[in-house]
Amino acid sequence: MSLPPDRLETRLPDAKPLYSDSQAAVEASRCLYCEDAPCIAACPTGIDVPTFIRKIGTGNIRGAARTILSANVLGYSCARVCPVEVLCAGACVYNAWDRDPPIAIGRLQRYATESMLGAGVAVELLSRAPANGKRVACVGAGPASLACASYLALEGFAVTVHEQRALAGGLNTSGVAPYKMPADDALDEVEFVRALGVEIRTGVEIAPGPTAEALLRDFDAVFLGAGLGADARLGIPGEDGAGVVGAVAWIERMKLGTEALRAEVRSAVVIGGGNTAIDAARELAGLGVPKVSMLYRRTTREMSGYAHELELARLAGVVLVERAVPERFVRDPDGALTAVELASGDLHRCELAVVAIGQAKLRALAECFPGVVLDDRGSLVADPRSGRTGHPRVFAGGDAVHGGELVVTAVQDGKRAARSICAALGIEIRPDSPMRAGHE
Ligand code: SF4
Repeated sequence: MSLPPDRLETRLPDAKPLYSDSQAAVEASRCLYCEDAPCIAACPTGIDVPTFIRKIGTGNIRGAARTILSANVLGYSCARVCPVEVLCAGACVYNAWDRDPPIAIGRLQRYATESMLGAGVAVELLSRAPANGKRVACVGAGPASLACASYLALEGFAVTVHEQRALAGGLNTSGVAPYKMPADDALDEVEFVRALGVEIRTGVEIAPGPTAEALLRDFDAVFLGAGLGADARLGIPGEDGAGVVGAVAWIERMKLGTEALRAEVRSAVVIGGGNTAIDAARELAGLGVPKVSMLYRRTTREMSGYAHELELARLAGVVLVERAVPERFVRDPDGALTAVELASGDLHRCELAVVAIGQAKLRALAECFPGVVLDDRGSLVADPRSGRTGHPRVFAGGDAVHGGELVVTAVQDGKRAARSICAALGIEIRPDSPMRAGHE
């Protein structure tokens, strides 16, 4: 599947454009190369931030990329999508002085990695062990699976990723706010993963029965990193029909196509208080919808969305309505959406309602493999340190285990599971393997 060049997301400008060489050099020169660098501890994958910044400062961009990609093989997309304000940059010592802003670690990381995604460069950057004769299947092609697959391929495994959808990359491709990273940039990273030796098959569904049994028969180990399912629904009257859509579905249509927004939409509501809700609201405002409101059932203090992201949405013109509990969608005699009625009796006029209250769990995954079970929230049960499930050859990580988490935590899950798979299959990890870099 190729992306249409005029898809809606291309109308939203890059919020943090790529640094020029001189901008990167100036920013790198501000880093103090702290000995006990808190930015390393704050990165879930443990990227050696001061080391890669020092390499940028000396013009060793390739070395900087190697430092980043060893600890976090998806360090490019993480540079684009990580909430650095609450991770590495949030921990930077500059914050304590309240004079200069913290080091723009995400932008420097993007600068170091963006030009390194080409196939030839990728292979040169990260050392690859000879084939070890073991085969691993990954289910899903989101960040957890792509990370697990990449590290294993570098260690000599033959890895095949099975993805149900037409495009690989998971939410990096279909769900990330365009002003952070458009879909074509996410697909560049997918090509980088292929260049590391990973086979990616799209349009392949793994379900209970023959397809799952074949994985256990044909592969030495299986990693489940399939993420989450369809948007959750409110279950209130009027929800079925035109004008009401789940947030993940709407964002995907906006990122990959041209038809997600009708020209006549003058007012839209987004229902929810998480980061996906904030993204959808900001995107609607950025695409020119004159009136965009977020309806949240509690107060700002209780929102799971980041405060800095909400502030940016407000600056884009989004209005937050607190303690707003939708009771029903109101439609005209022709069935067109006209409003959301709240429990308070208030009516919020809208032609489009985007429901962002979470995603369903892919419960059927647990039925694919004996010993793999769900917890009481419907997530796969896996040991957080190793990714081990109740089946000795099946491992899991990412959103399928944790619910909606960060890309960078999914990457760390994939790396940990790759280490566990090596141990389970008796493959010793090389002393200089990229898999050894970063946090345990
Ligand atoms: Fe550089 Fe800030 Fe990390 Fe210190 S905490 S090493 S100044 S990025």
